[in-house]
Amino acid sequence: MADIIQLLPDHVANQIAAGEVVQRPASVVKELLENAIDAQSDAITLIIKDAGKTLIQVIDNGIGMSETDARLSFERHATSKIKTAEDLFQLNTKGFRGEALASIAAIAHAELKTKKENAELGVAITIEGSEVKSQEVVVTPKGTSIAVKNLFYNIPARRNFLKSDAVELRHIIDEFHRVALIHYGINFKLIHNGSELFNLPESNQRQRIVNIFGGKTNEKLVPINEDTEVLKLSGFVGKPQFAKKTRSEQFFFVNNRFIKSAYLNHAVNSAFEGLMKDGYHPSYFLNLQVDPKTIDINIHPTKTEIKFDDEHTLYAIMRSAIKHSLGQFNISPVLDFNR
Ligand code: ADP
Ligand code: MG
Repeated sequence: MADIIQLLPDHVANQIAAGEVVQRPASVVKELLENAIDAQSDAITLIIKDAGKTLIQVIDNGIGMSETDARLSFERHATSKIKTAEDLFQLNTKGFRGEALASIAAIAHAELKTKKENAELGVAITIEGSEVKSQEVVVTPKGTSIAVKNLFYNIPARRNFLKSDAVELRHIIDEFHRVALIHYGINFKLIHNGSELFNLPESNQRQRIVNIFGGKTNEKLVPINEDTEVLKLSGFVGKPQFAKKTRSEQFFFVNNRFIKSAYLNHAVNSAFEGLMKDGYHPSYFLNLQVDPKTIDINIHPTKTEIKFDDEHTLYAIMRSAIKHSLGQFNISPVLDFNR
């Protein structure tokens, strides 16, 4: 009988991979912002139209790309960030899978403009159906601009599944916050349908939190600092009397990457035990620096979950550091929750 197995064409493989990487406009935002950060930019502008359904554009002032790299960047498994399998255990970039741009190009139209610092001219490329449709030499500032248009134009089921603009914009803003909260040394702007929603100047972490969540946030932040061999912990927790009914101000960053962890969240909650009414959640903005060899980020394409070698030790250190800091601010168990 004849053999029946075939290798899928690249475009089809990319479209399948895109299903995992790109769930909604906010996923594109995350990938483009992370690329801009990896490119060592210090000013990044995010321009959105119709909650990302029409346009998602990120403009950075980073290292830019050569003409060849610009074309290659949309290929699957094309990355400048790792070379060997060992590099996976010493990552200091957000990206490494070389999948984001290829995935995006399989499900949207893309326009790339880029120039390296010392190059006289830059290059502009348009991509449709995973293929380069046009390429020209252009005058453009140092850095990279990537515009993603008509997301899911070729996947009607995905496009129809998108929520209202209000909901999709909320997801975009959440992603923007997650990136901006930990990269406080970078100037970030967010413009939606022509109006500027955020313009965050370069600052320290406290100031960045305040710029995002409002002036009243300042008085509620308790600094956390703990330096051990396995974990360098920094950041802030909110005083218990400011705890919220939602989890909207809970952020863990591991090696400058936003992650979700029910287990570490439990560690924080346990440090607040007896300080908060049931149903309330503490605010926290916590940065964990650990040896990259002790974590695995490569367990999911979106990289928001990671695996730690030794969660239990991190749990214990975090819990005790937060308890200690809350104690220093004379926050002992309170019975009066009226405020
Ligand atoms: P990854 O980030 O995992 O390497 P991507 O598909 O996101 O994969 O990007 C592919 C490559 O394109 C990157 O490794 C990088 O070399 C280049 N690139 C993407 N975005 C930018 C940017 N904003 N500035 C400079 N280079 C970029
Ligand atoms: Mg990337």
